[in-house]
Amino acid sequence: MSTARHEPIPELICELCRQFYALGWVSGTGGGISIRGAEGIYMAPSGVQKERLRPEDIWLLDGAHDDVKVLCAPADPTLKISECRPLFANAFRLRGAGAVLHSHSLWAVLASRLFAERGEFVCQGLEMQKGLRGMGCFDAVRVPIIANTARESELTASMAAAMVAYPAVDAVLVAGHGVYVWGSGWAQAKTQAECYDYLFRAVVEANRLGVRLT
Ligand SMILES: [Zn+2]
Repeated sequence: MSTARHEPIPELICELCRQFYALGWVSGTGGGISIRGAEGIYMAPSGVQKERLRPEDIWLLDGAHDDVKVLCAPADPTLKISECRPLFANAFRLRGAGAVLHSHSLWAVLASRLFAERGEFVCQGLEMQKGLRGMGCFDAVRVPIIANTARESELTASMAAAMVAYPAVDAVLVAGHGVYVWGSGWAQAKTQAECYDYLFRAVVEANRLGVRLT
């Protein structure tokens, strides 16, 4: 795990949530982020104003077990563990991720709609693809799209199946909902999330404008 500035992880999660809020990724209390540290897995709470999180609001969970074992809970009893917990766990368990984030970006939602019938988002020939693990700008980027469910936690099995089917891809789109993106550490997860969001936006806007991207 690399936190380049050696910032404590709860502080880092609060800072990243403010940045993601400014990007429109975690507005309306949606979205979230989880980072693995030496002590366990840090996770933002569910259903709160993500841009106003404080370090003492962050949960610390035992990362070695699939069931929820709380190592450190916020003092505020109204805070609940993120609804995304089992989905974040998919990336930690199946990919050995160091960080996972969930965005409700409008570009992810529109991209999932645009490619709904195909079942996967596709783009090719864009420079920003280089920010994705193992991807060059002339390769074809493919991101699986899974159907949304009434409860976030009900996405767990279909997200896991998509991750198994697309082993080279570090993202899963959820139709009409958003995207999950992960990386070996928080910086790679953030970089990849920014690149995916750029690609989703580029393709959606190109479609709207009726122009070819490459
Ligand atoms: Zn969500």
